[in-house]
Amino acid sequence: MQSTHHVVPSLFWFRQDLRLADNPGLLEAQRAGPLMAIYIFEEEDPGALSMGSASRWWLHQSLEKFNAALDGKLNIYSGNAEKIITGLLEAQPIEAVYWNRCYEPWRVKNDAVLKKHLHTLGVTCKSYNASLLWEPWEAVKSDQTPYRVFTPFYRQASLQKPRSPLPRLSGACFLKDPNNKTTLADLKLIPQIPWYRGFETAWEAGERGAQKKLQHFLEHELTGYKEGRNFPGKKNVSHLSPHLHFGEISPQQVWHAVHQQEHVPLEDRAHFLSELGWREFSYSLLYHFPELPWKNFQPKFDHFPWKDNNVLLRAWEQGQTGYPIVDAGMRELWQTGTMHNRVRMIVASFLVKNLLIHWHHGAAWFWDTLLDADAANNSASWQWVAGCGADAAPYFRIFNPILQGEKFDPEGDYTRRFVPELTAIPKKFLFRPWEAPREVLAQANVTLGTTYPHPIVELASSRDKALEAYHQL
Ligand SMILES: Cc1cc2nc3c(=O)[nH]c(=O)nc-3n(C[C@H](O)[C@H](O)[C@H](O)COP(=O)(O)OP(=O)(O)OC[C@H]3O[C@@H](n4cnc5c(N)ncnc54)[C@H](O)[C@@H]3O)c2cc1C
Repeated sequence: MQSTHHVVPSLFWFRQDLRLADNPGLLEAQRAGPLMAIYIFEEEDPGALSMGSASRWWLHQSLEKFNAALDGKLNIYSGNAEKIITGLLEAQPIEAVYWNRCYEPWRVKNDAVLKKHLHTLGVTCKSYNASLLWEPWEAVKSDQTPYRVFTPFYRQASLQKPRSPLPRLSGACFLKDPNNKTTLADLKLIPQIPWYRGFETAWEAGERGAQKKLQHFLEHELTGYKEGRNFPGKKNVSHLSPHLHFGEISPQQVWHAVHQQEHVPLEDRAHFLSELGWREFSYSLLYHFPELPWKNFQPKFDHFPWKDNNVLLRAWEQGQTGYPIVDAGMRELWQTGTMHNRVRMIVASFLVKNLLIHWHHGAAWFWDTLLDADAANNSASWQWVAGCGADAAPYFRIFNPILQGEKFDPEGDYTRRFVPELTAIPKKFLFRPWEAPREVLAQANVTLGTTYPHPIVELASSRDKALEAYHQL
């Protein structure tokens, strides 16, 4: 007997959700039958931040791994998403399109347009939440306005326990698009300048790499997180941020795994979960204040007298400021594609408050060189350090890079690792080498101005200038 039943494939559009486990949209799409899995490297949108070089490197690795997990059935495209999806619908008998939501303002806008267009074509279109614990419109005040302060945001959001992770997709039937010739190599994601060599040993992109990082963190580093996370020389952080950004692991998977570690002190678990909460807060801010990557959250900072100084900016980018903890952080970023959170705060404060350079320049450098570059976290964090953000550190609280180094890298291991020219300098002078007697410097093989720079700015006077500028606002 001949079956009259034919199954029409659905389209699943992968974006920042490159995983098979706990993927709500993908599971739903699979219920409808065979799937055509697509990834679109989107053309630059005039209103978008175009992906930075380090992120491109990560994306290449991640897509390669993910395509292998789909037995080579990931269909890769490059161009305008709406045109590509519409083209696919014209060429194939597809009746439904599924995706997981993104929250960058340009994606929110484009998705709404696409959804409307698909509806007019009579195509079912469904979207899901795969990357946030609480969507931005869920954690709002009772009058439906967004929170501007973290603590009440987090308290309110936490009333709703994050949903449990969903099972890993299995048994799906993935289809190849016979008309598509684009390959991963065609996207040319690997940057021309091979500065990323060090990333290859430090990171394993993809779902498996993310799970390995999580397991290692749970077993070895979560205990002691609350205190240890402040010290760049310790290992008490998860290194999950690029995996979370690209959706190789979901915040729900991380949240529940951490929550369940009952043998770990509650303060460590709670503190870690609140850091995931900061990620949620950043996303809420970006969603409700879509200008966050570009405009000061507090408009009074629009009149701040920033200084344009390319020489100082380059010295900062290259880790040649003469302040060892700042230079260690900037070189860690260049060599490994990441930087410890404590040091991110120190280097950002130094740029904005000692060099008086606009936070846009710092955010742009981070955007290009961080593997975890994330529109929400990067913009919210830079504005937070600069004092112009939501719930920001007050502008007058200026990090002192000498004291920060001495307090948070007390043995100097972190700083010496990334500033090897200061390896032999005694601890007492590590964060202030210009104060070391000549014979101490000679013994440590340090010649200031030759082997290591003189400080590019004087701390006390630059601090005074910053405070004066602030008071004039
Ligand atoms: C100037 C500046 C720029 C930053 N830019 C980014 C960025 O582009 N992308 C990014 O993911 N983070 C950014 N951060 C936040 C933070 O530094 C990183 O998320 C963190 O260092 C990542 O390391 P981890 O995964 O080991 O963190 P863990 O301490 O293990 O924390 C777990 C997760 O919680 C989230 N998280 C932790 N701290 C923060 C925070 N302060 N704000 C928001 N989320 C947080 C991250 O998703 C992180 O992976 C920035 C911070 C500063 C001060």
